[in-house]
Amino acid sequence: MITATFCEIIWFAGLVAWYVIRYPFERRAKKVGVTKSLFGWRESGLLALAFLGLWVIPAIYALTGFPAALDRPLIPAIAILGIVMLCAALFLFYRSHADLGKNWSISLEIRSEHRLVSSGIYRFIRHPMYSSFFLMAVAQLLLLPNWFAGITGLVGVGMLYAFRIRQEERMMMERFGAEYRDYMTRTARLIPWLV
Ligand code: SAH
Repeated sequence: MITATFCEIIWFAGLVAWYVIRYPFERRAKKVGVTKSLFGWRESGLLALAFLGLWVIPAIYALTGFPAALDRPLIPAIAILGIVMLCAALFLFYRSHADLGKNWSISLEIRSEHRLVSSGIYRFIRHPMYSSFFLMAVAQLLLLPNWFAGITGLVGVGMLYAFRIRQEERMMMERFGAEYRDYMTRTARLIPWLV
């Protein structure tokens, strides 16, 4: 029986799984030095927005039901699609961490011995981790039967992506030059062969 509470529990289980996947990679990557960092107010603000949209607002909704005026009917088929999206997001999130390894950063950074990864999932798209963020945000929209709590993840992730992507690619071009430009010609950003 698919109820709103069931959907909320699935959603939070997904967020916990998200953190469990990230934790060991974060620990390992943090041991590697950083030679260039674009971390600052702008990056902190964007990360905070994504956190607010994906975690804080859904948590407030799940705990208090606010804003009840924006509740929408729960359609089981839509909720099941949300669960499928959530699983896809977690799979992609795991794969991108496994392939990126010690080159990962929460912000935009170049690590010492930074290597350009263009294999594994990175063979098909340049930003699989951001694709997984978007899938996660779509899962939130499909799972939470409230227009406001549903959409905030997409807004937070959308802002992070929109304000980060050019800077990230510029930074990679500065570091890897023709190698990255060549990689760009072979790959799409988020969806294989499309965008
Ligand atoms: N945008 C990528 C990675 C996100 S993590 C994705 O969505 O999968 C952000 C860090 O990854 C940045 O500090 C950047 O230096 C690094 N990075 C991005 N693409 C990379 C690549 N192809 N190889 C190695 N490092 C990469």
